[in-house]
Amino acid sequence: MELGRRDFIKASGAGIGGLALWQLLGSGNTLAAPKRFSLTRQVGEKTTICPYDASGCGFIVATEGGRVMNIEGDPEHPVNNGAACAKGSSLRQLSADNERRLRKVLYRRPGGTEWEEQSWDWAIDSIAQRIKETRDGNWMETDEGIIVNRTEAIGNLGGAALDNEECYLLVKMMRALGLVYIEHQARI
Ligand code: SF4
Repeated sequence: MELGRRDFIKASGAGIGGLALWQLLGSGNTLAAPKRFSLTRQVGEKTTICPYDASGCGFIVATEGGRVMNIEGDPEHPVNNGAACAKGSSLRQLSADNERRLRKVLYRRPGGTEWEEQSWDWAIDSIAQRIKETRDGNWMETDEGIIVNRTEAIGNLGGAALDNEECYLLVKMMRALGLVYIEHQARI
């Protein structure tokens, strides 16, 4: 039997279609079942603000068993509508679960060139002692006759990895200590 060009294309199309149908329905082979995701799994979700800069993009943090599972842009936030820049997309790296975070205290003495490992107790005691000495030695009760109760000898500069809640607590503490020079890297 002779096939014209048109007949050949028709036959090929029917053959390919038939083959595909045969594979889907009639071959006896079964297609792999689609992956199923539980839509009822309990995952705690909280909204937060990206700490990196003053744009203030909104994010959703998903946690399970006290561990951060996911952080993604909040689609309902008016600033970013769910989007995230490269820095915001890496927010999960800030979580306490990140195994690449530094977990030990490293101290470099004044004039020193090497880092020394210290305990957390040592670090907290040393910081508290220095704050107290500096504050006590530079306390101002009045300024031009007006009661001010402050110290200008200590400043506080927040880092970009501090989120809103940490900044709130930090400012409360610094104000309670009588500091007036309080600034944050992300606002500069
Ligand atoms: S997601 Fe990017 S643009 Fe938005 S606040 Fe964070 S660093 Fe700034």
